[in-house]
This record gives sequence, structure tokens and C-alpha cells, in this order.
Amino acid sequence: MAEDLSRFHGLTRSQLMSRIRSRGNKKTEVVLVQFFRKHRITGWQRHYPLIGTPDFIFRQHKVAIFVDGCFWHGCKRHFKMPSHRIEFWRLKIERNQLRDKKVGRLLRKAGWKVLRIWEHDLQKKNSSALLQKISAVVHV
Ligand SMILES: [Zn+2]
Repeated sequence: MAEDLSRFHGLTRSQLMSRIRSRGNKKTEVVLVQFFRKHRITGWQRHYPLIGTPDFIFRQHKVAIFVDGCFWHGCKRHFKMPSHRIEFWRLKIERNQLRDKKVGRLLRKAGWKVLRIWEHDLQKKNSSALLQKISAVVHV
């Protein structure tokens, strides 16, 4: 599941971005849908129009879920700085993290619980931890 970004070195920025965009978020969302189905977790909706456009919400529980790519959101364990345009990437990731925080604050103010799931949480070996994380807020 974890994207090995080292193979992207040497691509131009736009090549890199389109590569990651097209594979990144969509794919992780699909994995989470499969996870919900496998564990018979129901009541979720995708792309519900809400502050920050969460990837999933559980309306009944007022839970908003974001699936964060380890690269785009600067996961401490898996983010690897590209070898080129370091300053661009540093700012980009920093802005994403600031936006994540701001969106979280706004949602909580509006009475929502916010659950951020890392791309690496979706790895098979982490699935029981993920199930705990979700059932703590969704009561499945
Ligand atoms: Zn990670």
C-alpha cells in the first residue's frame, strides 16, 4: 500500500504530481470502502459537501473522516522529501498540514468529530488498529 516515492525521482513536478494524484487519494479511499464492507461498517457517505470536503462522513454520528496520503500530508514516518524543488515541496506540505488543522478546528466547532486516517493505517498489518480507531467514534 505504501507508495515508494523513490521511483518518482527524476520526473518533472507536473509528471510527479499527476502520477501521485491519479493514484493517491482515490486508491486509498477505495481501500477504506473495502475495509468498511469487510467489517460491515455502514452508514457512511462519500464526498458529502461539508467544510474541508471530508472523504467520508458518518452523518448519524457526526463523524468526518479524512484519508491522508503519507506524502501529501507529511506523515512523519513515510514522508520523503523529493530530491528536487525542495523548497516548493516543503511549503506545499506545510500548507496542507495547516489546512488540515484549520479544517479540523472548523469542523469540531460545528460539532463534528474528526478522524484522520493515514494512508499507512490502511495497510493490512494495521487493520485491527484501524478498526479500533473507527469503532471508537462510530460504534459499530
Ligand atoms: Zn505514513
